[in-house]
Amino acid sequence: VAKKTDEKPVVGMDMGGTKILAGVVDESGKILGTSKRPTKAHAGPDEVIERMAKTVEEAVKQSGLEMKDIAGIGSGAPGPLDPDQGIIWHTPNLPGWESVPLAGRLKERLGVPVFIDNDVNLGTLGEFALGAARGARDAVGIFVGTGIGGGLVLDGQLRQGWRKNAAEVGHMVILAEGPYCGCGKRGCAESVASRTAIERDLRAGLKAGRKSMITDMIKNTPGERITSGALAEAYIAGDPLVTEVLGRSQYYLGLLISAIINLVDPEVIVMGGGVVEALGERYLEPIRPVAYQHCLNQMNIEDVKIVPAKLGDNAALLGAAVYARQKLAKKK
Ligand SMILES: [Zn+2]
Repeated sequence: VAKKTDEKPVVGMDMGGTKILAGVVDESGKILGTSKRPTKAHAGPDEVIERMAKTVEEAVKQSGLEMKDIAGIGSGAPGPLDPDQGIIWHTPNLPGWESVPLAGRLKERLGVPVFIDNDVNLGTLGEFALGAARGARDAVGIFVGTGIGGGLVLDGQLRQGWRKNAAEVGHMVILAEGPYCGCGKRGCAESVASRTAIERDLRAGLKAGRKSMITDMIKNTPGERITSGALAEAYIAGDPLVTEVLGRSQYYLGLLISAIINLVDPEVIVMGGGVVEALGERYLEPIRPVAYQHCLNQMNIEDVKIVPAKLGDNAALLGAAVYARQKLAKKK
Protein backbone atom coordinates (compact mmCIF):
# COMPACT_ATOMS: atom_id res chain seq x y z
CA VAL A 1 0.00 0.00 0.00
CA ALA A 2 1.42 3.37 -1.03
CA LYS A 3 1.96 5.67 1.96
CA LYS A 4 0.85 9.29 2.10
CA THR A 5 3.61 11.89 2.08
CA ASP A 6 3.32 12.73 5.77
CA GLU A 7 3.73 9.07 6.75
CA LYS A 8 6.62 8.33 4.44
CA PRO A 9 10.12 8.28 5.94
CA VAL A 10 12.48 11.18 5.25
CA VAL A 11 16.26 11.25 5.03
CA GLY A 12 18.21 13.31 7.54
CA MET A 13 21.78 14.16 6.59
CA ASP A 14 24.71 15.94 8.18
CA MET A 15 27.47 17.14 5.87
CA GLY A 16 30.59 18.56 7.49
CA GLY A 17 34.17 19.27 6.50
CA THR A 18 35.28 15.67 7.17
CA LYS A 19 32.29 13.36 6.93
CA ILE A 20 28.81 12.91 5.48
CA LEU A 21 26.25 11.07 7.60
CA ALA A 22 22.78 10.13 6.34
CA GLY A 23 19.92 8.24 7.94
CA VAL A 24 16.39 7.25 6.95
CA VAL A 25 14.06 8.41 9.72
CA ASP A 26 10.41 7.41 10.17
CA GLU A 27 7.64 9.68 11.46
CA SER A 28 8.30 8.67 15.09
CA GLY A 29 11.98 9.68 14.84
CA LYS A 30 13.29 6.14 14.57
CA ILE A 31 16.38 5.64 12.39
CA LEU A 32 15.72 2.82 9.89
CA GLY A 33 19.11 2.75 8.18
CA THR A 34 22.26 4.85 7.99
CA SER A 35 25.28 5.44 5.81
CA LYS A 36 28.48 7.40 6.20
CA ARG A 37 31.45 8.39 4.06
CA PRO A 38 34.28 10.94 4.08
CA THR A 39 33.37 14.31 2.55
CA LYS A 40 36.61 14.63 0.54
CA ALA A 41 36.04 18.39 0.66
CA HIS A 42 39.23 19.09 -1.34
CA ALA A 43 37.59 17.53 -4.44
CA GLY A 44 35.20 20.50 -4.76
CA PRO A 45 31.40 20.93 -4.78
CA ASP A 46 30.48 18.63 -7.72
CA GLU A 47 32.24 15.64 -6.16
CA VAL A 48 30.94 16.39 -2.63
CA ILE A 49 27.34 16.73 -3.89
CA GLU A 50 27.66 13.39 -5.70
CA ARG A 51 29.04 11.81 -2.52
CA MET A 52 26.08 13.22 -0.56
CA ALA A 53 23.67 11.70 -3.12
CA LYS A 54 25.40 8.32 -2.88
CA THR A 55 25.30 8.43 0.93
CA VAL A 56 21.54 9.06 0.78
CA GLU A 57 21.01 6.21 -1.70
CA GLU A 58 23.01 3.85 0.45
CA ALA A 59 21.09 4.77 3.63
CA VAL A 60 17.81 4.19 1.77
CA LYS A 61 19.06 0.80 0.57
CA GLN A 62 20.25 -0.06 4.10
CA SER A 63 16.74 0.53 5.40
CA GLY A 64 15.25 -1.82 2.80
CA LEU A 65 13.52 1.00 0.92
CA GLU A 66 13.75 2.74 -2.46
CA MET A 67 14.00 6.46 -3.27
CA LYS A 68 10.29 6.48 -4.27
CA ASP A 69 9.44 5.63 -0.64
CA ILE A 70 11.17 8.80 0.62
CA ALA A 71 9.14 12.02 1.11
CA GLY A 72 12.10 14.42 1.24
CA ILE A 73 15.57 15.14 2.54
CA GLY A 74 16.84 17.52 5.19
CA SER A 75 20.54 18.24 5.46
CA GLY A 76 22.80 20.10 7.82
CA ALA A 77 25.62 21.97 6.13
CA PRO A 78 28.33 24.44 7.10
CA GLY A 79 27.34 28.07 6.54
CA PRO A 80 26.83 30.87 5.93
CA LEU A 81 23.88 29.65 3.91
CA ASP A 82 20.34 30.58 2.94
CA PRO A 83 17.92 27.89 4.11
CA ASP A 84 14.99 29.34 2.13
CA GLN A 85 16.85 29.28 -1.18
CA GLY A 86 18.92 26.23 -0.30
CA ILE A 87 22.16 28.01 -1.20
CA ILE A 88 25.52 27.75 0.53
CA TRP A 89 27.19 31.16 0.11
CA HIS A 90 30.74 30.12 1.00
CA THR A 91 32.42 28.24 3.79
CA PRO A 92 35.98 28.00 5.10
CA ASN A 93 35.68 24.20 5.58
CA LEU A 94 34.73 23.48 1.98
CA PRO A 95 37.11 24.85 -0.66
CA GLY A 96 35.51 26.06 -3.90
CA TRP A 97 31.99 26.50 -2.56
CA GLU A 98 30.75 29.88 -3.75
CA SER A 99 26.96 30.39 -3.96
CA VAL A 100 26.29 26.68 -4.52
CA PRO A 101 22.55 25.82 -4.84
CA LEU A 102 23.00 22.64 -2.78
CA ALA A 103 19.30 21.89 -2.18
CA GLY A 104 18.43 22.35 -5.87
CA ARG A 105 21.34 20.22 -7.07
CA LEU A 106 20.46 17.34 -4.73
CA LYS A 107 16.78 17.57 -5.65
CA GLU A 108 17.70 17.31 -9.33
CA ARG A 109 19.93 14.31 -8.68
CA LEU A 110 17.63 12.38 -6.29
CA GLY A 111 14.14 13.46 -7.39
CA VAL A 112 12.76 14.50 -3.98
CA PRO A 113 12.49 17.89 -2.20
CA VAL A 114 15.62 18.90 -0.26
CA PHE A 115 15.91 21.41 2.60
CA ILE A 116 19.14 22.64 4.21
CA ASP A 117 20.13 24.61 7.27
CA ASN A 118 23.24 24.93 9.38
CA ASP A 119 24.19 21.90 11.43
CA VAL A 120 24.00 23.60 14.84
CA ASN A 121 20.47 24.89 14.18
CA LEU A 122 19.41 21.41 13.13
CA GLY A 123 21.20 19.82 16.10
CA THR A 124 19.14 22.09 18.38
CA LEU A 125 15.93 21.16 16.54
CA GLY A 126 16.85 17.48 16.90
CA GLU A 127 17.36 17.82 20.66
CA PHE A 128 14.10 19.79 20.83
CA ALA A 129 11.98 17.23 18.99
CA LEU A 130 13.62 13.96 19.99
CA GLY A 131 16.27 14.59 22.67
CA ALA A 132 17.02 16.57 25.82
CA ALA A 133 14.48 19.38 25.22
CA ARG A 134 11.59 17.14 24.23
CA GLY A 135 8.25 18.49 25.38
CA ALA A 136 9.41 22.11 25.72
CA ARG A 137 7.92 24.99 23.74
CA ASP A 138 11.03 27.20 23.62
CA ALA A 139 14.61 25.92 23.82
CA VAL A 140 18.13 27.16 23.16
CA GLY A 141 21.05 24.93 22.12
CA ILE A 142 24.68 25.75 22.93
CA PHE A 143 27.36 23.55 21.40
CA VAL A 144 30.85 23.92 22.84
CA GLY A 145 33.57 22.60 20.56
CA THR A 146 36.44 24.23 18.68
CA GLY A 147 34.03 27.13 18.46
CA ILE A 148 30.69 27.75 20.13
CA GLY A 149 27.52 27.41 18.06
CA GLY A 150 23.91 27.86 19.00
CA GLY A 151 20.35 27.29 17.91
CA LEU A 152 17.05 28.88 18.91
CA VAL A 153 13.69 27.12 18.80
CA LEU A 154 10.59 29.20 19.56
CA ASP A 155 7.12 27.68 19.55
CA GLY A 156 8.56 24.52 18.04
CA GLN A 157 10.13 26.27 15.05
CA LEU A 158 13.73 27.17 14.37
CA ARG A 159 14.17 30.93 14.50
CA GLN A 160 16.56 31.76 11.69
CA GLY A 161 16.58 35.55 11.85
CA TRP A 162 15.94 37.91 8.96
CA ARG A 163 19.48 37.54 7.64
CA LYS A 164 19.41 33.82 8.61
CA ASN A 165 21.98 34.45 11.33
CA ALA A 166 20.12 34.14 14.61
CA ALA A 167 21.55 32.32 17.64
CA GLU A 168 25.24 33.00 16.99
CA VAL A 169 25.71 32.74 20.74
CA GLY A 170 29.44 32.04 20.42
CA HIS A 171 30.01 35.59 19.24
CA MET A 172 28.08 37.40 21.94
CA VAL A 173 30.68 39.57 23.72
CA ILE A 174 31.10 38.27 27.26
CA LEU A 175 34.39 39.92 28.21
CA ALA A 176 34.87 43.34 26.60
CA GLU A 177 38.45 43.79 25.30
CA GLY A 178 39.06 40.10 26.07
CA PRO A 179 41.12 37.63 24.02
CA TYR A 180 40.94 37.61 20.21
CA CYS A 181 38.27 35.33 18.78
CA GLY A 182 38.42 33.21 15.61
CA CYS A 183 36.12 35.82 14.04
CA GLY A 184 38.77 38.53 14.47
CA LYS A 185 36.97 40.44 17.20
CA ARG A 186 37.61 40.37 20.94
CA GLY A 187 35.95 38.90 23.99
CA CYS A 188 33.30 36.73 22.28
CA ALA A 189 32.05 33.77 24.35
CA GLU A 190 34.01 31.55 21.96
CA SER A 191 37.24 33.36 22.83
CA VAL A 192 36.88 32.64 26.56
CA ALA A 193 34.90 29.39 26.83
CA SER A 194 35.41 27.19 23.74
CA ARG A 195 37.66 24.16 23.55
CA THR A 196 40.16 26.38 21.72
CA ALA A 197 40.16 28.86 24.63
CA ILE A 198 40.51 26.05 27.20
CA GLU A 199 43.47 24.60 25.31
CA ARG A 200 45.11 28.02 24.90
CA ASP A 201 44.87 28.75 28.64
CA LEU A 202 46.08 25.27 29.57
CA ARG A 203 49.13 25.56 27.34
CA ALA A 204 49.90 29.00 28.73
CA GLY A 205 49.83 27.53 32.23
CA LEU A 206 52.06 24.61 31.28
CA LYS A 207 54.48 26.94 29.51
CA ALA A 208 54.73 29.06 32.65
CA GLY A 209 55.79 25.95 34.57
CA ARG A 210 52.49 25.09 36.29
CA LYS A 211 52.35 21.45 37.39
CA SER A 212 49.59 19.38 35.81
CA MET A 213 48.98 15.72 35.02
CA ILE A 214 48.23 16.89 31.47
CA THR A 215 52.01 17.22 30.91
CA ASP A 216 52.51 13.45 31.18
CA MET A 217 49.31 12.61 29.36
CA ILE A 218 50.26 14.46 26.19
CA LYS A 219 54.01 13.78 26.23
CA ASN A 220 53.89 10.85 23.81
CA THR A 221 50.97 11.91 21.63
CA PRO A 222 51.45 13.29 18.10
CA GLY A 223 51.64 17.09 18.26
CA GLU A 224 51.07 16.85 22.04
CA ARG A 225 47.33 17.01 21.43
CA ILE A 226 45.11 17.65 24.43
CA THR A 227 42.12 15.39 23.78
CA SER A 228 38.70 15.85 25.39
CA GLY A 229 39.28 12.45 27.01
CA ALA A 230 42.51 13.68 28.64
CA LEU A 231 40.74 16.83 29.85
CA ALA A 232 37.97 14.74 31.38
CA GLU A 233 40.41 12.42 33.13
CA ALA A 234 42.42 15.28 34.63
CA TYR A 235 39.25 17.13 35.68
CA ILE A 236 37.82 14.07 37.44
CA ALA A 237 41.18 13.54 39.20
CA GLY A 238 40.96 17.14 40.46
CA ASP A 239 44.03 18.43 38.63
CA PRO A 240 44.33 22.04 39.91
CA LEU A 241 45.35 23.67 36.59
CA VAL A 242 42.65 21.85 34.59
CA THR A 243 40.03 22.63 37.26
CA GLU A 244 41.01 26.31 37.19
CA VAL A 245 40.97 26.60 33.39
CA LEU A 246 37.70 24.68 32.99
CA GLY A 247 36.28 26.76 35.84
CA ARG A 248 36.93 29.88 33.80
CA SER A 249 35.09 28.46 30.78
CA GLN A 250 32.22 27.38 33.07
CA TYR A 251 31.99 30.87 34.57
CA TYR A 252 31.79 32.55 31.17
CA LEU A 253 29.30 30.00 29.87
CA GLY A 254 27.21 30.77 32.97
CA LEU A 255 27.25 34.47 32.08
CA LEU A 256 26.38 33.68 28.47
CA ILE A 257 23.44 31.52 29.55
CA SER A 258 22.15 34.19 31.95
CA ALA A 259 22.11 36.69 29.06
CA ILE A 260 20.18 34.18 26.97
CA ILE A 261 17.68 33.48 29.79
CA ASN A 262 17.19 37.21 30.37
CA LEU A 263 16.39 37.64 26.67
CA VAL A 264 14.47 34.50 25.71
CA ASP A 265 13.28 32.97 29.02
CA PRO A 266 13.29 29.45 27.55
CA GLU A 267 12.26 26.32 29.42
CA VAL A 268 15.43 24.46 28.49
CA ILE A 269 19.03 25.21 27.57
CA VAL A 270 20.61 22.15 25.93
CA MET A 271 24.38 21.97 26.00
CA GLY A 272 26.35 19.74 23.63
CA GLY A 273 29.61 19.53 21.72
CA GLY A 274 32.88 17.72 22.42
CA VAL A 275 33.70 19.25 25.81
CA VAL A 276 30.22 18.67 27.23
CA GLU A 277 30.08 15.14 25.80
CA ALA A 278 33.40 14.20 27.40
CA LEU A 279 32.62 15.72 30.82
CA GLY A 280 28.81 15.51 30.97
CA GLU A 281 26.88 16.52 34.05
CA ARG A 282 30.00 17.27 36.07
CA TYR A 283 30.93 20.05 33.63
CA LEU A 284 27.43 21.55 33.75
CA GLU A 285 27.05 21.55 37.52
CA PRO A 286 29.21 24.67 38.23
CA ILE A 287 27.65 26.50 35.25
CA ARG A 288 24.11 26.52 36.70
CA PRO A 289 24.60 28.73 39.80
CA VAL A 290 26.43 31.37 37.73
CA ALA A 291 23.71 31.31 35.06
CA TYR A 292 20.91 31.54 37.63
CA GLN A 293 22.58 34.22 39.75
CA HIS A 294 22.66 36.71 36.89
CA CYS A 295 19.03 36.40 35.84
CA LEU A 296 16.71 39.24 36.77
CA ASN A 297 13.66 37.12 37.53
CA GLN A 298 14.61 34.70 40.31
CA MET A 299 11.15 33.14 40.50
CA ASN A 300 11.35 29.38 39.74
CA ILE A 301 14.81 30.09 38.34
CA GLU A 302 16.04 26.56 39.00
CA ASP A 303 13.20 25.20 36.90
CA VAL A 304 14.93 26.68 33.86
CA LYS A 305 16.70 23.48 32.86
CA ILE A 306 20.33 23.48 31.78
CA VAL A 307 20.89 19.95 30.54
CA PRO A 308 23.38 17.92 28.50
CA ALA A 309 22.41 16.99 24.93
CA LYS A 310 21.20 13.44 24.41
CA LEU A 311 21.53 12.66 20.73
CA GLY A 312 25.32 12.90 20.33
CA ASP A 313 26.51 12.52 16.74
CA ASN A 314 22.96 11.95 15.50
CA ALA A 315 21.58 15.32 16.67
CA ALA A 316 21.98 17.15 13.35
CA LEU A 317 20.84 14.14 11.30
CA LEU A 318 17.66 13.73 13.36
CA GLY A 319 17.07 17.49 13.43
CA ALA A 320 17.45 17.57 9.64
CA ALA A 321 14.79 14.87 9.36
CA VAL A 322 12.44 16.83 11.65
CA TYR A 323 13.15 19.99 9.63
CA ALA A 324 12.36 18.25 6.34
CA ARG A 325 9.08 16.96 7.78
CA GLN A 326 8.11 20.46 9.03
CA LYS A 327 8.92 21.98 5.62
CA LEU A 328 6.99 19.31 3.73
CA ALA A 329 3.96 19.84 6.00
CA LYS A 330 4.05 23.59 5.30
CA LYS A 331 4.11 23.04 1.53
CA LYS A 332 0.74 21.33 1.56
ZN1 LIG B 1 33.83 35.94 17.72
